[in-house]
Amino acid sequence: RPQQSSTEHTAPTTQSFVPEAGGSVLVMLTPDRASGTVTAQVQDPRLPALTVTDQGVTRGDGIFETLMATPGQGQDGAGFHLRKSAAHLARLAASAEATQIPVPSEQDWRDGIAAGLGVFAAGNPGRAAVVKLVATRGPEAAPGGGHYGGGLDAGGLDSSAPSGPARVEQLTGTYWALVSPVSEASSHARETGLKVLLLDRGYESGVQERAPWLLLGAKTLSYAVNMAAMRHAKSQGADDVIFTSSDGKVLEGPTSTVLMARRVPRADGTQGVELITPLRRNGILPGTSQGVIFAAAERAGWELGYGPLVPDDLMDADGLWLVSSVRLVAPVTHLDGVELTVDHELTEQLSAFLAEDLDPGSHGPVD
Ligand code: PLP
Repeated sequence: RPQQSSTEHTAPTTQSFVPEAGGSVLVMLTPDRASGTVTAQVQDPRLPALTVTDQGVTRGDGIFETLMATPGQGQDGAGFHLRKSAAHLARLAASAEATQIPVPSEQDWRDGIAAGLGVFAAGNPGRAAVVKLVATRGPEAAPGGGHYGGGLDAGGLDSSAPSGPARVEQLTGTYWALVSPVSEASSHARETGLKVLLLDRGYESGVQERAPWLLLGAKTLSYAVNMAAMRHAKSQGADDVIFTSSDGKVLEGPTSTVLMARRVPRADGTQGVELITPLRRNGILPGTSQGVIFAAAERAGWELGYGPLVPDDLMDADGLWLVSSVRLVAPVTHLDGVELTVDHELTEQLSAFLAEDLDPGSHGPVD
């Protein structure tokens, strides 16, 4: 992928900062032109770290990923298992390509995350963490050339640039990993289920192919619309949202993927399960949770389907869920005020599939 630098791996540097219980850890990934490497600087997230001209702030021009790290399994350094890490880093690279934001290499991100998790664990022993990775387009150019504050030269992407220092030279964005405790609200949604409103997303389902500049398949920082939809749902007494297209297709939640199940009779007289998610080319973010659930469901002999779905399909389903990396598998109990079938056995099976953390393969966000 052209945006990935292939810098030499160097040990991240850390400072003596340790968060208080419940506190977060920030790791700034800084390209070092002199050495041609990316260094990871651990710091207190409550202290200033960005310039106000950063285009991630002024224009929402950036990309991100949110991952879950669970303690005690030790596969990813610092005694944590970073769940679905390959799928998240692949999606970050795809978002980078769609937005033409140059990003550090996968190894640079992994080193930064490991440094952050190590310090996080010192202040939050035994706690699971949310890891948010962010890459912005970096500081705006100042009038008359140059940059405010950051001192980086505006750099176009040159995917033919050689590796090493020349690649680091292209990393003109701003990059960080924020490691925080998982909130109580995440497990609450799983246990009590969600009341969901169907809301019009305002574009038709074919728009992604016609207007790729809308960046619908990329995970960009521009979530103001998604958050406004959530506030609207809350003002109506609901917990969450499922967006529909203007031509009536089911899309996704503002921060989640829609999954529905139907119990289907098999030829041998037993019952099977068909698991369906909306058609991805209908302008939605391909979910990593959906990808690994599909991979495990396929292995378990379930039938899989990719929409298109309409709201009546959801109403008639034998189970409906919103799935995402931190809240995991949350059952939908009500859709537009209508009580739905909630199947606890299916919810548990989907949660177990997600926990298997299989390689999503062709069901992954970038197949
Ligand atoms: N769709 C949108 C718009 C999202 O923001 C998210 C996650 O935040 C998802 C789907 C679910 O993706 P994942 O399962 O990779 O967390």
